[in-house]
Amino acid sequence: MALLTPAKVRSLLDAHGLHPKRSLGQNFLADANTARRVVALADLPTAASVLEIGPGLGSLTLALLDAGHDVVALELDDRLADVLHAVLADESGASGAGARVRIERGDAVTVDLAAILTPAPSPRACVSNLPYNVAVPVVVRLLEEADAVERILVMVQREVGERLAAGPGDPQYGAVSVKVAYFAEAHVVGLVPPTVFVPRPKVESALVRLRRRGEPPVTVPSADGLFALVRAGFAQRRKMLRRSLAPVLGDAAPDVLEAAGVAPTARAEALGLDDWAAVARSAAAAA
Ligand code: SAM
Repeated sequence: MALLTPAKVRSLLDAHGLHPKRSLGQNFLADANTARRVVALADLPTAASVLEIGPGLGSLTLALLDAGHDVVALELDDRLADVLHAVLADESGASGAGARVRIERGDAVTVDLAAILTPAPSPRACVSNLPYNVAVPVVVRLLEEADAVERILVMVQREVGERLAAGPGDPQYGAVSVKVAYFAEAHVVGLVPPTVFVPRPKVESALVRLRRRGEPPVTVPSADGLFALVRAGFAQRRKMLRRSLAPVLGDAAPDVLEAAGVAPTARAEALGLDDWAAVARSAAAAA
């Protein structure tokens, strides 16, 4: 199956009178080797069912089909969904691979995910070159709301990728890193230069592989309570925890932290998921 080249991407855009929208993160992958590399790094089982968010002109969709997988493709831009139909008919028509794609239209941030994921083929994996502006909320949504999706490989802005996979001591470590660690193991498994996209973005991209955990690695009375503490801590990350957690814990903050074995003078960025869970248990016990 012929994957998309820079010339093909440009000719598709011209032929359909399309101008990539920055607001929708429309930087199209135009390099077959990178598309194949993304699919290989996703480490999918044979003939998997894959959710692709933002298929665009089909660069990754074709690579997924070529590797023998089925695809459920969710696209917000109706013009691109129409072009994708045409691309699939052209590029995979002879092999019949186009029949292995279900195209859905909708916004990955708000769409009813269960309605997208339940009908066969029901994806248990997600491989996507995500639009930059919604990458974090989309990954968090998948982790929180799409239990069936066990393996995720996303291409995102490098800084965002490093944040998703960060731990204490890493410069990008933040509230979302703790939430990701609660649900999944996450690693940056590759970098992608701007040169393989049309149009070229200003920044490098990272490939992040997430594998959903069978169970969260910590026990807390409530995940929402845990995440509320983490959000408060990182909202004022330069402040000591006894101050930054005061909006949630009030005057009890120093005692709650001491009882959890965490120094009240520590800052949010020093705490790993285990420490946050200890604070959440201590806060629930004190309530
Ligand atoms: N997968 C294609 C590729 O690799 O060339 C396109 C990737 S491009 C970075 C992002 C795609 O996501 C675009 O097709 C864009 O229209 C689509 N998109 C943007 N916001 C979206 C949203 N909220 N929900 C679903 N798709 C979205």
